[in-house]
Amino acid sequence: MEIYLDANATTPVLAQARVAAMQAMAEEFGNPSSIHSTGLKARAMMDAVRQRARQLLDAGAGQLLFVSGATEGIQTAVLSALSALRERRENGEAIGSLLLYGATEHKAVPETLKHWNQLLGLRLQVQAIPVDRDGRHDLAWLRQHAADAGMVCVMAANNETGVISDLAGIAAVLDEAGSRALWMVDGVQALGKLPLHLSQTRIDYAPFSGHKLYAPKGIGLLYVREGAPFTPLLAGGGQESSLRSGTENMSGIAALGAVLAALDDGRSFRSHAELEGFRFRLAEALQAAFPGVVFNASLALSLPTTLNFSVPGLSSKLLLDMFDAADVRVSGGSACSAAKAQPSFVLQAMGLPEWQTASAVRMSFGPAVEEAFIAEAVARIHACGQAMRRTCLSGADDEPLAGDGVVQLNYGGACTWLLADQADQSCVVIDPQPELAGRIEQYLRCQGYRVLAVLETSPASDWPQPSTSLTLADGQVVQALQLGGQWLARLPMGQAQAYLLGKAREGRLVAADVTLAFCGDALMPDLIGSADPMREQQLQRLAAVIGPQTLICPAHDFDNRLATTLAAERLPPGRAAGVELNAAQLADFLLRHPETLVVDVREPYEQLLSQTPRLSDWALQAMPLSRLVNGLQSWLTEPQRPLVFFCRSGNRSGQAVQCLRRLGHANSYSLAGGLALWERHEAFAHSI
Ligand code: PLP
Repeated sequence: MEIYLDANATTPVLAQARVAAMQAMAEEFGNPSSIHSTGLKARAMMDAVRQRARQLLDAGAGQLLFVSGATEGIQTAVLSALSALRERRENGEAIGSLLLYGATEHKAVPETLKHWNQLLGLRLQVQAIPVDRDGRHDLAWLRQHAADAGMVCVMAANNETGVISDLAGIAAVLDEAGSRALWMVDGVQALGKLPLHLSQTRIDYAPFSGHKLYAPKGIGLLYVREGAPFTPLLAGGGQESSLRSGTENMSGIAALGAVLAALDDGRSFRSHAELEGFRFRLAEALQAAFPGVVFNASLALSLPTTLNFSVPGLSSKLLLDMFDAADVRVSGGSACSAAKAQPSFVLQAMGLPEWQTASAVRMSFGPAVEEAFIAEAVARIHACGQAMRRTCLSGADDEPLAGDGVVQLNYGGACTWLLADQADQSCVVIDPQPELAGRIEQYLRCQGYRVLAVLETSPASDWPQPSTSLTLADGQVVQALQLGGQWLARLPMGQAQAYLLGKAREGRLVAADVTLAFCGDALMPDLIGSADPMREQQLQRLAAVIGPQTLICPAHDFDNRLATTLAAERLPPGRAAGVELNAAQLADFLLRHPETLVVDVREPYEQLLSQTPRLSDWALQAMPLSRLVNGLQSWLTEPQRPLVFFCRSGNRSGQAVQCLRRLGHANSYSLAGGLALWERHEAFAHSI
């Protein structure tokens, strides 16, 4: 069962709403502008929904327009306000110089302000109202600027943090300043969760989106205060009293009506206190599962359906992948920015430290949530905590899975390499990133490793061990240490050094036996330029002591190349095409190539939490992307054997394939869309 905890992005459609939408499509399908009976029935339905919304929002004599969603509502409000400002200015009235919006506003608001400001030639200054550490608007700042504002846009509650704005405080500031600013309040996240008595406020415009409250996408509402300026965004057939032309989205309106009716019936939606109780249970579970978890917004000041938290040492991306593996859908911020994997601008505006903005996760549920759903969510959070402990990512250790071989940790493009020998219980750390210090220490402690050395590839530094020497392929004698059955040799490289790992024989480490070379930034074309003579020198120096197939592990990896070889470095850069198989192609591919090795590159905690697909006749290997170098060598010795990589979304498996293809394995493929689409593909599931 999927635990969908991303209601602030969108919600499923309530059962009653689906029925109502179907009815509006199949039976009461009339055009509300038609004057025959079919049309009249449709109009009656539409009027009834509007009336219900009017009561819920206490809209008084204001207008309530059906629109396609909040973005359209925001356009209409901003166009209306800015057109009025232009007219006032043309009439010689003072309109101020500012268009203000809250710094944590949904991007639809500042972007719309900028858009219409430019199109209408207003040339006003679009400026953010700062927020404090709690995410609330800085009222002192607003007090200073209110008199100079032509329009003020704030949200009733924030989509990422759930922080509830002090609308009464903002209204008081505007009143005290004698401001004539037009005021838009984005009510999207407040609908159905907070009482909004719109007609009793000075709010001029309030947009809402149905799909944030169990109605389908494509239907929304815009409240316009009686007497507030209005300019239609859509002109045409004169629907909605000519305020918004275009035949109405009747199935959407019917569905929204069913949701509003459910809000009224007192059974379908939980009370504020119940929702707070549910959120408390989730928060408690998070605290137990992730020691050190920090909540990024005050629970007392936010919606009872939203939690935003960060876990020290763990990125949003890692947490998202882990929850997704446990079939718990959460988000790393707003849905729009999640794909870009950028730190949340909302948390940045609140002045939270960088680690918190980079680790933030949002859990949000809808107000019609069931108790059993919360209980299951709590159980899954505990399972995630257990997976973290078993993979040494949590403060409390718990029977860790064996962590042998080489691990690459990437922090903002900088790589830390851990080289571990399970049998010998020893480990070497190369280029530890300060930001990962806690996580590395935790990992070493949890695995019970003796740390033989902590090494840097740059700048030049001393060898920490009592010296043992090895002779390299070019005859030079260098310092070395033993790591289990292998040797790690230090190769001076001017201002830096490389470390070579391999099996030494009789005091010699010959080039063909060097399996891995940690070369720092020696080969980074981005840093030193691909035609740089220094790069050529470094390549030659390395070529004298390592083999053409020795895997070179860099200190920086900004474009997810993972590892390279001298042979690959001499090829022109480029991305391989045609590397993806969709689920249907995969089924066919596997039947034609029974020798295929299927590789799961998800991280160990994801593998622990999710079921691996059934693959009765094909070899399946787990090789997390962070450990890919451990698999590369043996895969590269069999370039004819097909390799198919998969992960959650197809992104990491794509990186693995690009790496393998660059290193000469032309028979490697990635499962497009990852497990998310694979599981959906029943034809495939049945064929294996
Ligand atoms: N405002 C807020 C606070 C939101 O959360 C969203 C959607 O995420 C929007 C506006 C835009 O809504 P829509 O995309 O439905 O038009």
